[in-house]
Amino acid sequence: MGLYMSMYVGPYAEATAEPSEREVDVYGCTNSKCAQWKKRETWMQAALSSFCATCGTATGKTTKLVKGRPSPHEALGESERLSSIRDDEDEDVVYFVPNIRGSVGLRLNGDRGASHHVDLAGVDREAEMALFEGQFPEELSALRKVYDVKTCWGLQVDWS
Ligand SMILES: [Zn+2]
Repeated sequence: MGLYMSMYVGPYAEATAEPSEREVDVYGCTNSKCAQWKKRETWMQAALSSFCATCGTATGKTTKLVKGRPSPHEALGESERLSSIRDDEDEDVVYFVPNIRGSVGLRLNGDRGASHHVDLAGVDREAEMALFEGQFPEELSALRKVYDVKTCWGLQVDWS
């Protein structure tokens, strides 16, 4: 029942990984007896205050054992230059599209009823895929440490 459509046409990364069990760095309360201990997450570093609001213990980096497909945060950390779409933990694949101004690719958004027309006949898909690799070398390298990564060109549609 989506009412807002976000569409992307252009190069993207298809990142695949088998589910695994591994130890990851997580951020949050460092007191294992606190209720917040279970809520430590890989992505919490930026939002972390110095002390736990529940028990008052200093917060920081610890590790925890996780199962499943690696999350985008495990690969990219706090970087938001690429954004993941269709990040469903139950699926082995995640897609990454550019998330910076002036990047390669085309974004079309709209509420229900919006329409767009774009002529794609002249698009050089191979050149755009090479541009994508050139614009995001560090991110793609970080993704390749965690996932099997393939650069593709196509359409991503997301309703929210
Ligand atoms: Zn705590």
